[in-house]
Amino acid sequence: MMNENRSNLLDSVLRQLDVTAKMVKLSPDIHEILRHPKRVLQVACPVKMDNGEIGVFTGFRVQHHDARGPFKGGIRYHPEVNLDEITALAMLMTWKCAVVDIPYGGAKGGVVCDPSKLSMGEKERLTRRYTSMISPIIGPYQDVPAPDMATDPQTMAWIMDTYSQIRGHSIPEVVTGKPLDVGGSEGRVEATARGLVFCLQEAMKLRGYKRDGVTVVVQGSGNVGGNAAALLREMGCRIVGLSDSKSGIRSPKGIDVYKALKYKAEYRSFKGFPGAEEVSNEELLATDCDVLIPAALENQITVANASEVKAKIVVEGANGPTTPEADMIMRNNGIFVVPDILANAGGVVVSYLEWVQNLHREHWKAEDVNERLREKMVKSFYDVVDASKKYGVDMRNAAHALAVGRVASALSLLGVWP
Ligand code: NAD
Repeated sequence: MMNENRSNLLDSVLRQLDVTAKMVKLSPDIHEILRHPKRVLQVACPVKMDNGEIGVFTGFRVQHHDARGPFKGGIRYHPEVNLDEITALAMLMTWKCAVVDIPYGGAKGGVVCDPSKLSMGEKERLTRRYTSMISPIIGPYQDVPAPDMATDPQTMAWIMDTYSQIRGHSIPEVVTGKPLDVGGSEGRVEATARGLVFCLQEAMKLRGYKRDGVTVVVQGSGNVGGNAAALLREMGCRIVGLSDSKSGIRSPKGIDVYKALKYKAEYRSFKGFPGAEEVSNEELLATDCDVLIPAALENQITVANASEVKAKIVVEGANGPTTPEADMIMRNNGIFVVPDILANAGGVVVSYLEWVQNLHREHWKAEDVNERLREKMVKSFYDVVDASKKYGVDMRNAAHALAVGRVASALSLLGVWP
């Protein structure tokens, strides 16, 4: 059965667009164009399973708008992936690329599957089949996929190889988030987390916090959550809560993040991690702390739990972790929210840098990549702060106003053909 929350994301994203349209006085024509994805592809991927049977997996690629440049967006593998969710995420990608001012439009892909039940071989065959079935609409100047939930650099290498085999020559720039040996960029794996940390640092300055001893709760400990927890620990913050899909742990004295992540890698869960209390997801989100980082999946902070959030700053690592009603509750409670389309844009920024390196057949040093990322994130953070002053709104509405304004400007310059 589909999780109702996941299909609600599209409603939230469309409602946000409608609010933004009024705020920036968007023309009704452009508003209507932006409410719809430009292209939607659904595929049924037959895959030879290890037991000799054929599994058929539904996949999607949704391309929202490309007025500012080629489509860009991750691919996720999850049992509850559905078309509405992927459409919403594609639209968020359009805004995200615009808010950090990189020349891309928004797309997203997904395959309905339970990655925890697939062997490596099955995952490879599924990835290659899905790639071949979406290959007519992807390409370095058309649509450039990247990793998202349960897809990783290895998955991207399979995508690059499959696409290259179809075209007959090596095309690393068709996909980003690749391993270093096949054209990946330094710093890409931790880029989303690093970008989030740059935003948090600026938010802390605005709110008068010092780094040392700031208490942080991180929901999710995958690419975004795990790396963010580790980077923040290095910076001197105290991680007082951490979770994954199976369990959460909490310790007011602080969790040794490296040990916890190592423990999870070994036992596939935080359950039983010494020196920390085991807590439910609800308890984790309600933990006493300065900063909360939801970095798992959408619709986690809802009307049911928003008033329990004790953090003063929320930085959204996941896409769409807060429902609109919950957002209002937190705003009324004086919580400073750094919205997803800004906070987690570091991944797509370094993806863009990877694409540029590939197109020029270059490989840049990690320090250069991280410095370009820092510049981009800090500039974008203050662009959003400026927009929030201009429109007299919070950071989420400001980020959307900035992004939608930029996309609308590109659309009206290009015009409607024919
Ligand atoms: P991931 O698969 O590496 O990690 C997801 C984490 O969330 C895991 O720790 C998982 O156990 C946990 N999780 C899953 N369901 C949960 C639940 N019900 N409660 C608590 N924890 C749960 O994925 P990721 O790449 O880290 O992505 C996380 C979020 O960040 C997603 O919303 C994704 O769209 C977004 N995001 C990722 C990137 C990126 O570069 N990876 C970029 C931008 C946004």
